[in-house]
Amino acid sequence: MRQSSLFAKTSKTAPSDAVSANAALLERGAFVYKNSAGVYSYLPLGWRIIKKIADIVREEMDALGSNEMLMPALVDKKYLEATDRWGVDVGYRVRGIDEAVDAFALGWTHEEVLTEIASHHISSYRDVPFSAYQVQTKFRNEARAKSGILRGKEFIMKDMYSFHASQEDFDSFYEKTKQAYANVFARCGLDAYCTRAAGGAFTGNITHEFQVVSPVGEDVIYVCPKCRYAENKEVATVVQGDACPECKGVIEEKTAIEVGNIFPLGTKYSDAFNLKFLGEDGVKKPVIMGSYGIGISRLMGTIAEVHHDDAGLVWPASVSPFAVHLLDFTKSGDAAKNAYEALQKRGIAVLWDDRQVSPGDKLATADLLGIPVRAVISEKTGDMIEIKRRNSAEVKLGTINDLI
Ligand code: ATP
Ligand code: MG
Repeated sequence: MRQSSLFAKTSKTAPSDAVSANAALLERGAFVYKNSAGVYSYLPLGWRIIKKIADIVREEMDALGSNEMLMPALVDKKYLEATDRWGVDVGYRVRGIDEAVDAFALGWTHEEVLTEIASHHISSYRDVPFSAYQVQTKFRNEARAKSGILRGKEFIMKDMYSFHASQEDFDSFYEKTKQAYANVFARCGLDAYCTRAAGGAFTGNITHEFQVVSPVGEDVIYVCPKCRYAENKEVATVVQGDACPECKGVIEEKTAIEVGNIFPLGTKYSDAFNLKFLGEDGVKKPVIMGSYGIGISRLMGTIAEVHHDDAGLVWPASVSPFAVHLLDFTKSGDAAKNAYEALQKRGIAVLWDDRQVSPGDKLATADLLGIPVRAVISEKTGDMIEIKRRNSAEVKLGTINDLI
């Protein structure tokens, strides 16, 4: 794409109210636009990243055999009343202008909705196990919506729910999901600890969170960097300096960002919606469930927190909005146009900075946007292209084939 036709302009200065690197850099780079505290638009560059992250998540969930679907954002009161969650304080309630009472909540999680749907599709042991997920905008009236897109009142989540005939079958799916989550975060360039955690609003059981160490995180975790043992402070059995219970390592205390979590739900929701299956033995039994979330938009913020330097963002190639940032310093633009077309012919996503601004401006913008490979064409390089990776200081002179 030609940068001259890219909607949204970068800025040299950070917004005055940005408290974290992700907020400052994502706004400066015009990846996102803050409409209100905790409410963001994803501008074209940011939306490309969100789509990349969502596709990684989709690939890993599909590989588990899960089904992608989409549920309503308007969640009928009847669903939340069935589990006593109509009054939960993170919610937003809505009504039509001409209606007297709130008839819906804006969906903040979807256990109830999918369990009720499942109760019309599951009747025998042949109908389980299955799992389904969606990538959807969620709404929560967050009091602390301050860390950029890390905590939104409106945010993008992948939520998956699974349905099983036995505890053993659930346990085996839960373990496979842990691995799928590890794959997602590794593919996004993040080192996430799978952390033992408390059940929160959903369940009294032990659950697992995926935590990325970062100074702006809101959680405190105890980890062993050696064997990757990890506990959330809420359920911790160790403190900083303790010997790791599983190896000879030393426990460290870290602040971290929760990028995902997985919950055993037992039969809480299947009981509420009378979701049962007829077993092979002719006995009706409740379905055992789990729920599995990933904050897609929070992931983008977390990647920005982990992968940046003083000059700007440093996107991992897997989520970068473009593979190559082509900077043209020449008068004619002919060589750049050739390179642009050659890259596009190969299916390589390229952002061509064809704007009428100074080379200095282009270089600074390239550092801010953080596309993994920068290619400069100038009068002084002649037929050659100056190739540099965003995460390295080394500059190489090469041909278009070297660049490809
Ligand atoms: P937190 O403790 O951070 O409030 P949570 O326990 O409420 O998270 P879940 O309800 O399990 O989170 O949601 C699943 C995932 O969605 C979380 O792991 C997180 O990555 C993301 N998430 C939760 N709340 C927000 C939010 N307000 N803004 C952005 N992402 C969020
Ligand atoms: Mg929360």
